[in-house]
Amino acid sequence: MEKEVVSKNFIEQIIEKDLAEGKYETICTRFPPEPNGYLHIGHAKSILLNYGLSQEYNGKFNLRFDDTNPTKEKIEFVESIKADVKWLGADWEDRLFFASNYFDQMYEAAIKLIKKGKAFVCDLTAEQIREYRGTLTEPGKNSPYRDRSVEENLDLFERMKNGEFEDGTKVLRAKIDMASPNINMRDPVIYRVAHMTHHNTGDKWCIYPMYDFAHPIEDAIEGVTHSICTLEFEDHRPLYDWVVRELEYPYPPKQIEFAKLYLTNVVTGKRYIKRLVEEGIVDGWDDPRLVSIAALRRRGFTPESIKMFVELCGVSKANSSVDYAMLEYCIREDLKLKRSRVMAILDPVKLIIDNYPEGQIEELEAPNNMENETLGTRKVPFGKELYIEREDFMVEPPKKYKRLYPGNEVRLMNAYFVTCVGYDTDEEGNVTAVHCTYDPASKGGNSPDGRKVKGTIHWVSAQDNVQAEVRLYENIIDEEKGVYNEDGSLNLNPNSLTVLKNCYVEKSLKDAKAYDSFQFVRNGFFCVDAKDSKEDALVFNRIVSLKSSFKLPK
Ligand code: ATP
Ligand code: MG
Repeated sequence: MEKEVVSKNFIEQIIEKDLAEGKYETICTRFPPEPNGYLHIGHAKSILLNYGLSQEYNGKFNLRFDDTNPTKEKIEFVESIKADVKWLGADWEDRLFFASNYFDQMYEAAIKLIKKGKAFVCDLTAEQIREYRGTLTEPGKNSPYRDRSVEENLDLFERMKNGEFEDGTKVLRAKIDMASPNINMRDPVIYRVAHMTHHNTGDKWCIYPMYDFAHPIEDAIEGVTHSICTLEFEDHRPLYDWVVRELEYPYPPKQIEFAKLYLTNVVTGKRYIKRLVEEGIVDGWDDPRLVSIAALRRRGFTPESIKMFVELCGVSKANSSVDYAMLEYCIREDLKLKRSRVMAILDPVKLIIDNYPEGQIEELEAPNNMENETLGTRKVPFGKELYIEREDFMVEPPKKYKRLYPGNEVRLMNAYFVTCVGYDTDEEGNVTAVHCTYDPASKGGNSPDGRKVKGTIHWVSAQDNVQAEVRLYENIIDEEKGVYNEDGSLNLNPNSLTVLKNCYVEKSLKDAKAYDSFQFVRNGFFCVDAKDSKEDALVFNRIVSLKSSFKLPK
């Protein structure tokens, strides 16, 4: 059998080299969210990348909450993040960790550096530290406290820990090189005094480690081998390497950076979304117009579609934006053979079949998915009065119009041929009902005598159906026009949400549950809204329409 040759991405190449050279026996990756907000599509990329690599190389995958910063964390985000990671299918098994559980080891690590003469307590203020740091073109200056003895540093650091000093009066700094061309290496602060209560450790600590010091230690403690992060940390890598080297870990983890995922016409920034939520423009972090993972799930995206999307995006070192249409392409691809194609009328007008027996109801058989017979068939009630889409009837049709107009014959999907014989209007001339006659010999929508009809339209029984609300979405911002107006207000798309209250769906959807999704013939893919849908008041979100001009990039 011929094997497909798939070229490996740059991260896979690094891993394969490390394994071949025996640098690590097996690999371990991690997803390290700060519990300070909801996850979004960009995080999904990171989750699936890290988890995917652990699966590909038979390694391990850790979910680690990076909760070392007591100001920002909110415990409520832990559960939502876990739910999102699980939903995406990234299984951390029993490897769930909290960085705050390592505070003792981090403290010990700092002592080790002090003892090696590689860290010192500094009394400069934050502003002075900034001044001493120099610029991109000028080297920094040594702190006057840089040459404190090991004993003095140990004593002061312990007293920092014991709470003897006010916030901001003392820090612990790594002793590296104030002349380094990389500013991150100019004696970076690794511990600060902060009298704050931590959600996990309470008041035990009044010193907290800085991210650049804490993160490599967390990785090393957990046995992470490849610590994958986004590009903005590239300049921090020398410090990461310095920390794991000076702390003499036997299997030092290595940091690898990749480009963040950006989507066109979509904003993922926490600040922006917070504002949309606070101003009541969206109904929460899971509003279906957003791209938090919770929002995508509520809109009706599947884990498979997001995985396909992330794989199509690939990993690279160059920042770029991906077209939102590619995400839509993925959900269409995922659902098209998996979901039933049912009939729903979003903008109804009545169709009356004048020659159909009064009071008669037939149960007609309809295939669930013409392209996938394994989905079987269902029964759809048919009667004298139906609903059709308003746009499927025209009094004076344009030339190529193939649907209903006076005198024209069309096929009612899975039902009969009907010919339009007239219509009713109200005082203003709006069409209130369309009249037709049917050909009983065309049952099932099959031509009885070889005569052809050009149009097929969908319908829902007016007597036996389910009334529903349907919500249609567009992007909430038009990125090309900018996120903000000149006065600082948000530049929103006024059509981002359209609510249709008077829709009719087939009876077969009566028991549809939250997150169930369907193709509504001609109208797109729809999903039962998990927040607002009720047993007798169904609400559907349009996930995506059926057509797109999007082409897969080569
Ligand atoms: P912030 O730093 O503003 O709190 P964040 O988005 O960086 O937010 P983290 O919780 O720090 O949130 O991120 C967890 C992981 O997700 C990190 O490894 C980060 O690199 C990765 N990540 C965040 N945004 C993206 C993105 N757009 N594309 C890919 N990975 C991302
Ligand atoms: Mg972050």
